[in-house]
Amino acid sequence: MPTTTTHKMSIARRVSSMHPSVTVAFGNRAKAMKRVGIDVLSFSLGEPDFDTPLPIKQAAIDALLAGQTKYMPTLGDPETRGAIAAKFEKDNGIRGLTPDHVAISAGGKHSLYVACHCLLDPPEPGEEPWDVLLPVPAWVSYAPIAHMAGGRIVEIPTGPESDFKISPEQLRAAITPRSRLLIINSPSNPCGTMYSPDELRALGAVIEEMSATVAPDLVVLSDEIYEKIVYGGMPHFSLGSIPAIAERVLTLNGMSKAYSMTGWRVGYTAMPGAFGKQLMQAMSTLQGQMTTNIVSFVYPAIRKALADCDAEVHQMCEAFARRAEVISARLAAIEGLVCPKPTGAFYAFPDVSRYFKRTSAGGRAINSAMDMCEALLEEAHIAFVPGEDFGGCGRNCVRISFACSEEQIHQGMDRFETFLSKLH
Ligand code: PMP
Ligand code: GLU
Repeated sequence: MPTTTTHKMSIARRVSSMHPSVTVAFGNRAKAMKRVGIDVLSFSLGEPDFDTPLPIKQAAIDALLAGQTKYMPTLGDPETRGAIAAKFEKDNGIRGLTPDHVAISAGGKHSLYVACHCLLDPPEPGEEPWDVLLPVPAWVSYAPIAHMAGGRIVEIPTGPESDFKISPEQLRAAITPRSRLLIINSPSNPCGTMYSPDELRALGAVIEEMSATVAPDLVVLSDEIYEKIVYGGMPHFSLGSIPAIAERVLTLNGMSKAYSMTGWRVGYTAMPGAFGKQLMQAMSTLQGQMTTNIVSFVYPAIRKALADCDAEVHQMCEAFARRAEVISARLAAIEGLVCPKPTGAFYAFPDVSRYFKRTSAGGRAINSAMDMCEALLEEAHIAFVPGEDFGGCGRNCVRISFACSEEQIHQGMDRFETFLSKLH
């Protein structure tokens, strides 16, 4: 029988036009090179190198052995949703949350996906699209996910001179009646910087004013997934704790970074108030036609982590703080790089454009961050992530994830310095 057919087959436009995740792509390339024996040092994926703390694993093992292996309520059991509501009140000062204001999804990326699809619509013919306001550089998944849900991305540019942060004036100027979603990510991936409580209060005042006048539909998505990894002396602050705007703020978080649980795939969102509850119901409808609940025996592990693992989290944060010192010192010693000192998360995002318009020792023209990362991977065997897909001035930058040992950071920086010194 013939195995070919004359029927034309194609992939749906909404996926074929989608931009793949460059963080995932470089992470996979580094892993593939390692598999064939190449000594690649990876600084690509934003993934803590620590193992998940034992008490968390044990809670999942116990639940598995006890037979917690069946379908569960779509957005999570009330006990775990309640534990998350309590965490938000205790750690973040977000009040008025009940289990019905909380959704648990299969990773923060899935939380973002489900939330965007419940908040955005593609425009009807003749209608203006909903705007998604995105301070850039920003994590590479916000724009593709929000765009797929029907939003129009409006970038608000920042630069290293402001530690990659927007000002209240910039925010006011960006908000229009079509503003539906504002995404704030502090501490930031890829920038490694964070807003102070006062800076967030000032943005909150603009959100309060503009939503009362110009943009009644505005929702703020505050991605706080790096909240526990802060070491610059500045405390983490949640926009959802500002009473005047609390019922417009959807706070996103997850287990991946703070508890070193990237492979477990747990993310969660919460929003107080009547609309918050309505949004969670919508998310339940969508998730119920998508993935249903997350892995059942993981729920007790989430509760264990939130209740009992502060010491482990603190220990990991201290290691990140030391690594931040090491990488900052090494980058500062390289001529011509501009890089604000990381104060949160585990990323450095140096502007490397000073080294563009040169040629590598292996003969590659270096005219962009992508060119530089290709050459670094192929010639120096270090995997950084090119900054173009983070938006705005990211095109001049490379992202270095320092969620690895201090020894690896030193080795990687040695290779980076040698590579730069051989550019001609
Ligand atoms: N938000 C930001 C800013 C991130 O860097 C990540 C990392 N993947 C996520 C959300 C989602 O992480 P996960 O899907 O592992 O929960
Ligand atoms: N968020 C991490 C990163 O930026 C993990 C990969 C991804 O999901 O983008 O590297």
